[in-house]
Amino acid sequence: MSIVTDRQAVLAIYREAADRKRVLPCFCTENLTTTEAILDAVRLHGEAIGEPDLPIILALTNRYAHRSQSANYTQTRRWDIGLKLFLADLNVLAGSDSPYSQLRILVHLDHTQFDADEELLRWDMHAFSSIMFDASSVPLEENIRRTRRFVAEQGEKIVIEGACDEIVDATGDIRCALTTADKAQAYLEGTGVDLIVANLGTEHRAAAGNLTYHGDQARRIRDRVGPRIVLHGASSVPADQIAGLADDGVCKVNLWTALERDASPHLLRELAAHADQAAGSQVVAELKAAGLLGPACREDRGLSIDFFTTVYRQTIIFQAMRRIVGGYLEQWVRPMPSAR
Ligand SMILES: [Zn+2]
Repeated sequence: MSIVTDRQAVLAIYREAADRKRVLPCFCTENLTTTEAILDAVRLHGEAIGEPDLPIILALTNRYAHRSQSANYTQTRRWDIGLKLFLADLNVLAGSDSPYSQLRILVHLDHTQFDADEELLRWDMHAFSSIMFDASSVPLEENIRRTRRFVAEQGEKIVIEGACDEIVDATGDIRCALTTADKAQAYLEGTGVDLIVANLGTEHRAAAGNLTYHGDQARRIRDRVGPRIVLHGASSVPADQIAGLADDGVCKVNLWTALERDASPHLLRELAAHADQAAGSQVVAELKAAGLLGPACREDRGLSIDFFTTVYRQTIIFQAMRRIVGGYLEQWVRPMPSAR
């Protein structure tokens, strides 16, 4: 099945998810290792529940000031080169000879800035399954006006996600009120977007998952507009709080921070345990002398190609991310009652 970009086919996947009382997971990526970890986790989960054609949304941001994931894709730090490589990688990974060929892959442009991403907004939108048109940084009336204009220009071609409120950065000082049902309804009617990002208490780029997701607020919005809510910042709340998102009217959930935040400790642990093999006894001795490594750290084994290559480090990250994604999929993509 591979990559699905046709607007009607994408909307049908959203309807199918709602019928099955599931939320569509949208994981962001900024490198091939993350992309593969996401796809492999979905492949394994699909096999486990007897649905090898599960849909999965892969996303990245472009000229989003808080984080440009396409720029991070290569050392050129060029968003356009990164985005083209991401699409090229996905096309190969979705090919008929790939282990991921049965998945239904949706490609999402996340946090597309109405101003900074002007050049991207002139690209052919047929290459993408959905786009978040993000004008949440300007006053609401202007946000609605700009978003409505974009829907008029591109709404026939692509599924559009709008944002009536900003989801704030965990590292910043700004905090916003939760999105009300009135505001969500007015925004949807005023803009004509397909999906709406609502502020339900989560934050972007959180160092810990200790905030509160306001499901009651989501249900108030759902009762007005149906299951069209997109939740961002899902890494900032404990996973068990967001197990029942589909019941709250959330149709798509965006997640990225937890993948990187919770995979990094595995790499540190592995490298500390194999420091002499990864960096040599001389470096271990220097780090011990500096107090950065302790007496239990071995320095007798000598350098080994099994431990000092990029593939060693990438495999640790890949496996950790795959486990993290798998944990979310178990909550969000439960087996159908009839399938068991
Ligand atoms: Zn976001």
